[in-house]
Amino acid sequence: MKDSVIKKFSVKEFDSELFTPFTISSGSHRSLENVLFTLEAAGGVKGFGEAAIATHITGETRARTVKSLRRAGELLAGRDAANYLGAMCVLEGALDGNRAALAAAQMAVLDLATRLQGVPLYKFFGGKAPRLKTDITVVIGGAAAAYDFTLKMRRGGFRIFKVKTGSDMDEDFRRLEAVKKAAPGCAIYLDANCAYGAREAERFINDLARRGIRPEVLEQPVPKDDIGGLAYLSRRLPMPVCADESAYSLDDVFNLIRKKAVTAVNIKLTKLGFLRAREVWALARASGIKLMMGEMLESELASAAAAHFAGGLGGFDFIDLDTPFFIKDSGMRGASFLSKDGVYSLDRVKAGIGVVPGAGR
Ligand SMILES: [Mg+2]
Repeated sequence: MKDSVIKKFSVKEFDSELFTPFTISSGSHRSLENVLFTLEAAGGVKGFGEAAIATHITGETRARTVKSLRRAGELLAGRDAANYLGAMCVLEGALDGNRAALAAAQMAVLDLATRLQGVPLYKFFGGKAPRLKTDITVVIGGAAAAYDFTLKMRRGGFRIFKVKTGSDMDEDFRRLEAVKKAAPGCAIYLDANCAYGAREAERFINDLARRGIRPEVLEQPVPKDDIGGLAYLSRRLPMPVCADESAYSLDDVFNLIRKKAVTAVNIKLTKLGFLRAREVWALARASGIKLMMGEMLESELASAAAAHFAGGLGGFDFIDLDTPFFIKDSGMRGASFLSKDGVYSLDRVKAGIGVVPGAGR
C-alpha cells in the first residue's frame, strides 16, 4: 500500500473551559465543545481537523457532527491523500448539510496532504502574508467588564477591538465608550450578530459618531435574510458593511455581491469548507469588496488553519481569529507560532497546520 493512502480515522469530542463566557447577541458559549477528526495514512503520517459547534449560530449540533465525521472517515478510508482534491470534492456533496463537519474533514485532508508534502499550509495557499495579527473580541457584558478586559488586552499588545453589540443599546454605548477610554487610538470593529433593523443600525452608528466613536467595519447589523437592509446600510454608512450570517454559502455571497448589498464579507471555514471559502475569496477579490477572516469558537488547531488560509491567499483586511485567547487549555500543542499579543507567524510552521492534539486528546 502506498504510504499516502488513508488507512485510519478517528472522531473524538473535546471540551475545554473558557476564561469568560463567549456571549454575543444571539446566544452564548459557556465552554468549548468541539470535535476532533484525525486521519492517518499508511506510512503513519496524520492530519487533524476541528469541527466548531456553534448551535446558536448555525443550528448544527455536536451529535450530528460526530455522525457526519464518522461518515466522512468511511468515505475517505482507502483514498490516496495524493489526490486531496478528489477527497475534498467527495466531502463537498456528502457533508453539505453539516458545514462544521465539512470544514473539519477537509482540514484534516489538507493537513495530511501538506504534511506528506513537507510544506506549511499557508504556502500551499499561496504564501502571500506569513504574519497576521488578530483583533480581540469584547463579548457582551457590562461596561465595567468591557473596560477591564480592553485595558488588560491593550496592555497585552492587542490594538484592534471587535465589540459585540445588539443586546441593549444604552449599555452598548457605555461599553463602547469604555473600550475607547481603555484603548485610546485603537481600532474598533462592531459585530451585532443580526440584532438590528436597518434604520435602527443607522441611528446607532450616527449616535456613536456623535460620541466620537467611528468603527472601521460594521458586521452583520441586520437579520441574515434582510438583504435590502444590508444594501441600505452599505449605501448610507461610511464604513464597510460586512456580511457574516448572511454569507453562509457561495450562492449567498454571489447574490450579495450582485445586488451590491455588502462592501465586505466574513469568510469562515466552518460556514463554507475550504473549497467554497476559496471561491468566496475569489468572488470578493474580483468585485473589490473587503474581506474578513473569521471563525466560530475554535482552538488553536482550527484557528491556525484559518490563519494559513488567509495568510496564504492574502488580501484580507480584517483578521478575527482570537478565540484561542478565550480557552483555558484546549489540549492542543505546537501553537507557539501564535504569540500572546495575537500574531500568527506562519513562517515558523514546518509542515501542515502545525498544531497537534496533545496526549489525552
Ligand atoms: Mg460575526
